[in-house]
Amino acid sequence: MPRIELHIHFEGSVRPDTLTAIARRNRLPVPDVATDFRDLHHFIDLWNVTTACLRTPDDFRRIVVDYAGEAKQHGAVYVEGIFTPDPALADEIGLDAMMAGYCDGAAEAEETHGVIVRLTPEQYRGSDPGFGMRVAQAAVRFRDRGVVGFGLAGREGRFPDEPYEPAMRYAADHGLGLVPHAGEAAGPESVRSSLRMGASRIRHGITAVGDPELLTEMAERRIVLDVCPTSNIRLGYATECDHPITRLVGAGVLCSVSTDDPAMFGIDLSHEYALAAQLGVTEDAAFEAGLAGALCDEKTRSRLEGM
Ligand SMILES: [Zn+2]
Repeated sequence: MPRIELHIHFEGSVRPDTLTAIARRNRLPVPDVATDFRDLHHFIDLWNVTTACLRTPDDFRRIVVDYAGEAKQHGAVYVEGIFTPDPALADEIGLDAMMAGYCDGAAEAEETHGVIVRLTPEQYRGSDPGFGMRVAQAAVRFRDRGVVGFGLAGREGRFPDEPYEPAMRYAADHGLGLVPHAGEAAGPESVRSSLRMGASRIRHGITAVGDPELLTEMAERRIVLDVCPTSNIRLGYATECDHPITRLVGAGVLCSVSTDDPAMFGIDLSHEYALAAQLGVTEDAAFEAGLAGALCDEKTRSRLEGM
């Protein structure tokens, strides 16, 4: 059964050996990625240390190609990958150089591994909203090279969404899908806020389970959630025996299955599918949700449908 993965941060997919090689090449200290995370905020702090090793367009190209190769081994035919440009590095090497590195990686991934890769860069809560707008503008410039969406990540509930909405609007007005993170650390209201913003899909969205009216709306509108079971468990939002995905699919909400940050959680896509199966999500249901949520063009969607 082919698999579609919609929620994977390339920066969080870099296996320790590759990260070590990249850090050495960039003459940086090698970070320790085997760490226990206390909560989302702690996780983000550690994530920042790890991602600081990635410094050149070629680093970005490499991590996309590497992950596509890995995902292929787990049956992935389509990957929608996330990256979060760092403002200081963007000042140094330019946003377009960063985008180009990721886009080169997406093209090479398809040639080398036959995995279709599309890109959804994002801004993050707590960063300068003006920088977020620049990222949105750069994302739009790379629309014809594989960028299909624009997102919002970071510390939910600690920063309001409003300052980041102009960049989201700009991206949507220029044809990109909106894929904000919500409903992970914050409650159902954060999912509602994302839907008001015009979200095409919600990254996580699991806390929507506490709001029956919202569940009905999402099921009716076929709003897809990108659910990452281990990520939710490791960050303390669910347990292996009691994960909201069971109730979400029970309520008719489309849930795709993804790894989020496979290297940082020490997992892979097959692991997440096995866990999702235990929680009541079949391969067919995950594929249907993936197909419904993918932001690719219709020609690509038809190709996926035929797989
Ligand atoms: Zn994520």
